[in-house]
Amino acid sequence: MPHMRGKRAVVLGGAGFVGSHLCERLLDDGAAVVAVDNFLTGAEENLRGLRGRPGFEFFKQDIVEGLSVDGLVDFVFNLASPASPIDYAQLPLETLRVGSIGTEHALQLAEAKGAVFLQASTSEVYGDPLVHPQHEGYYGNVNPIGPRAVYDEAKRYAEAITSAYARVRGVKTRIVRIFNTYGPRMRLNDGRVVPAFVSQALRGQDFTVFGDGKQTRSFCYVKDLVDGLVRLALSDVTDPVNIGNPREMTILQFAEAVRAAAGGGGKIVYQPLPQNDPKQRQPDITRARTLLGWEPRVPLEEGLRETISYFRAVASTHGAS
Ligand code: NAD
Ligand code: UDP
Repeated sequence: MPHMRGKRAVVLGGAGFVGSHLCERLLDDGAAVVAVDNFLTGAEENLRGLRGRPGFEFFKQDIVEGLSVDGLVDFVFNLASPASPIDYAQLPLETLRVGSIGTEHALQLAEAKGAVFLQASTSEVYGDPLVHPQHEGYYGNVNPIGPRAVYDEAKRYAEAITSAYARVRGVKTRIVRIFNTYGPRMRLNDGRVVPAFVSQALRGQDFTVFGDGKQTRSFCYVKDLVDGLVRLALSDVTDPVNIGNPREMTILQFAEAVRAAAGGGGKIVYQPLPQNDPKQRQPDITRARTLLGWEPRVPLEEGLRETISYFRAVASTHGAS
């Protein structure tokens, strides 16, 4: 069985939500980890449990400007990119540049080192999907000039250049299409629905539901996602693979799930639906199941409990009211 023990992995975006969990998992598996981040949307605090662990190094670097890492590298995980709709709306050019120039720098590093390259893509490449659930053969329905385009098209370009480096330069590449993922170390104010509803529940505020709340999402706990990333990196699957939890629900149902788990929250207040907000989203995970032996294990109720206790601790540390 392929494994991470004794390997050296570079995690770009390692101070982010998913990246910091990936670093932790790789260290637990016995790999050495070099995390790189410019703290654009990540945080020093996310590295607290990592700094000082044997085999962990961190470099502050903007991967758009360049990227060099000394020594042997077996894996390059490229997770560097703003990821929440509020972040990429505020950072449109940074998002396009890290997805394009940054991804090419990451591919060049993998090529120079003979490393396996894993690109974090997204369910957003399917846009507002006309096929449901979304399987990897679906080409998507993306508005190339809308406000979400800076993210969606950057990720589509990242997939294209990753595939080109595999074809033309012989780099061993992997592409993961990540569906909505949640867990500890999301930013309380990143605007995504999980931190938004959890913080509202903890403060006894109303839930801000965008549109009529009948749009659907499927939420995957970060520990499950990270397990999928490691399995994919260790596989020889070059085609894109969806990783996400197929349990789909409306945003209204999700608000009720948060209310039940947090034991609080006010009424539902409706706010305008953001432009091009996808109406439905559910991953078809047949490929991950059959090729990687992966499926999510953490039920929503359990994942929400972990997430809520993290946000409670953050709120008490920062004295949030
Ligand atoms: P995040 O914002 O917490 O993490 C992204 C990290 O990348 C941050 O630490 C940020 O500072 C860093 N970064 C951004 N630009 C950089 C640059 N130019 N140079 C160096 N570092 C840079 O977001 P996340 O939720 O952890 O997402 C991680 C990856 O997974 C992203 O690529 C995202 O597109 C993808 N993804 C996440 C989800 C999800 O639900 N969380 C869903 C789909 C895809
Ligand atoms: N959403 C909401 N209230 C909020 C934040 C988000 O109703 O306070 C909705 C949003 O319009 C979308 C869904 O929840 O339909 C998921 O949004 P998120 O930003 O978490 O991720 P997306 O899947 O849109 O990238």
